[in-house]
Amino acid sequence: MALFARKLLPYLMFPLLMSGGIGMTFWLMSLGQSPLKAFGLVSIGFVALVFMLEKWLPARSDWVASDGQELNDIGHGLFGTGLGAVSGEALSSWVFGAIALWTAAHLGYGLWPSQLAFGLQVVLVYLLADLGRYIQHRLMHRYEFLWRYHALHHSVNKMGVLKNSRSHFVERFFQPICMFGLIILLGAPAEVVFWYIMPNSFLGILDHSNLDVRIGPLSYLVNGPAEHRLHHSRDLKEGNSNFGSALVLWDLIFGTYLNPRPHLTPQAVGIENDSMPTGFAAQLAEPFLAHKPEAAEA
Ligand SMILES: [Zn+2]
Ligand SMILES: [Zn+2]
Repeated sequence: MALFARKLLPYLMFPLLMSGGIGMTFWLMSLGQSPLKAFGLVSIGFVALVFMLEKWLPARSDWVASDGQELNDIGHGLFGTGLGAVSGEALSSWVFGAIALWTAAHLGYGLWPSQLAFGLQVVLVYLLADLGRYIQHRLMHRYEFLWRYHALHHSVNKMGVLKNSRSHFVERFFQPICMFGLIILLGAPAEVVFWYIMPNSFLGILDHSNLDVRIGPLSYLVNGPAEHRLHHSRDLKEGNSNFGSALVLWDLIFGTYLNPRPHLTPQAVGIENDSMPTGFAAQLAEPFLAHKPEAAEA
């Protein structure tokens, strides 16, 4: 029985946690909280819950111990993912939103296909936002002058829930512009875009966690934890894959998809000969200094 539960639990985690996060967010909104506040509160609870669960049901027992970077990871989360992404999002909404309004006023109609069913509009956001992230992410691995801002995210020797938001301020500032610039420019309603941002954010937390979460055949649609672990592999034959955010579609189309089934898992994650400093300020300054890490994709 215990063995059965251990085998079944990883498959239950994905539907339970995703529906729990999404459900809680909409429940708080139904109580009158703003979408941003509801989503923010649930995200903090989601990270805390996964942080506890990954100690209990780890994907890899050698990733349970501390790497001494937890405070830096939280710092990059607050500074990069919090301030950086929020400012990037505000800038895109302001600039591209103004262009969308101007275009709609001059044409007499908006460019976004608002006549489509809500679900189809959400699908369109998934396709466009994921394409934007795929292009940004692939370029960041391809060119050294961009890689230096992405290296911080890969400079890890274990996966864990706090690694999700360990990203450089500059990367996180430009990420919403790449992902949502075109969508806002076309005039997509905020409530449609929210259906991408919120569930995809919970998915990102699971993707970086050391929680044993398995998505089974959904791995041909969703960029899940096992797929993203391969992207973090120190072996670049595995690491130059799975660049998408929520979906594996663009990886499948552009030939960079690597399926982890049945048991393909990286020997080690991180960067070979990693030269990332260990201090928070030094990590932020690293991309601007003369000494740079090598580009991941030669
Ligand atoms: Zn990457
Ligand atoms: Zn990652």
